[in-house]
Amino acid sequence: MPKYEFAVIGAGVFGAWIARALHLRGRSVVLVDQYGPGNSRASSGGETRILRMGYGAKEIYTRWSWRALQLYREFYADTDPTLIQTTGIVWLWQPGEQTGLDTVRTFENCAIPHGVLNASELAERFGQFHVSPDTWAIWEPDAAALLARRGVQTVVRESIKQGMAFQQGTSAEADVYVYACGPWLPKLFPELLADRIHPTRQDVLYFGTPSGDASWRPPAMPCWIDSAAGVYGIPDIENRGFKVALDKHGPAIDPDTLSREVSNEAVAQAREYLALRFPALRDAPFLQGEVCQYENTFNGDYLIDRHPERENVWLVGGGSGHGYKHGPVIGEYVADALSNGTAIDPIFSLAAKARYDSGTRKSTI
Ligand SMILES: Cc1cc2nc3c(=O)[nH]c(=O)nc-3n(C[C@H](O)[C@H](O)[C@H](O)COP(=O)(O)OP(=O)(O)OC[C@H]3O[C@@H](n4cnc5c(N)ncnc54)[C@H](O)[C@@H]3O)c2cc1C
Repeated sequence: MPKYEFAVIGAGVFGAWIARALHLRGRSVVLVDQYGPGNSRASSGGETRILRMGYGAKEIYTRWSWRALQLYREFYADTDPTLIQTTGIVWLWQPGEQTGLDTVRTFENCAIPHGVLNASELAERFGQFHVSPDTWAIWEPDAAALLARRGVQTVVRESIKQGMAFQQGTSAEADVYVYACGPWLPKLFPELLADRIHPTRQDVLYFGTPSGDASWRPPAMPCWIDSAAGVYGIPDIENRGFKVALDKHGPAIDPDTLSREVSNEAVAQAREYLALRFPALRDAPFLQGEVCQYENTFNGDYLIDRHPERENVWLVGGGSGHGYKHGPVIGEYVADALSNGTAIDPIFSLAAKARYDSGTRKSTI
């Protein structure tokens, strides 16, 4: 078996971009995945993910999103431009909601294009939403929907074409191992991570839009997040249907054995929400669903650190329901740390990861 400098274990969005970045820096690297890149059990295996800049006061993620947007646009322009679709995003907020106010301030600091809309401006621009008169919204015109599974597969395929090694399996021989195993990390490193990364079940539902009606597709319909309700969605992309996702953390799961059958309860909850927020879709037929998992840290910050007892082992994960968008930036960040010893922000350290509190049921964004 050939020996590499680096083995990146896990070809989800994190591992795929880390391996690519190491390869582009001229390092010898093999990417390994047990079920294959962007597989249906992986957190990156869903149809679509949102790329937004808004992160409240967490400016580092805003800056990473902006950088990731440029990297995705560049990479997909050369490979498959359909894998990133600029939809914009509408964030709904209640009066005085701190995360919304912080987001606006961070956007101003970071010069991120945005607008602030009151309820009547929202109704004028996007009549699909029905909101209370005191609701306000942040509009991010550059936000995008990313085609998730196909995106990861494209990164791996292009990197292989450019000479990077890939193996389907669970091991390879290398000097340094990077475990980018998403929700599997606590199974692989139970003593370290069982309490610090908590995989939860998440249901995603797709509803059928009326025949011939373009108002639920981009450019008429943006992505949206309804913070107070804990629900978000993506317009009808590639005719899959209008996506509604329940953002509250579900029950704890095992990613190998979790049944991917959508629950009736989730469909009912999504339908109840549609009736409230998008009444025109009240009776929309349920088309299909996805059951995925978040791999939550206690506060949603990622884990990027060396194993405390194994000098040549790195741990990268804790995507916490928001990591997909940052894949290309995590790739650069980790490759620079591994290649040049660039310092890693302490928020990503193992030491900064408190125990996940099972009472945490809200979104990390
Ligand atoms: C429903 C849902 C909606 C989301 N929405 C968004 C969104 O809108 N925007 C956003 O930015 N993020 C979003 N996320 C989060 C994002 O998808 C994840 O943070 C991200 O995909 C995590 O990627 P990862 O590479 O860490 O893990 P994964 O994609 O799970 O990849 C881990 C890989 O490791 C492999 N593996 C595990 N163990 C081994 C082993 N021992 N040997 C070999 N291979 C192994 C697995 O097979 C898998 O392919 C969402 C997540 C879900 C579930």
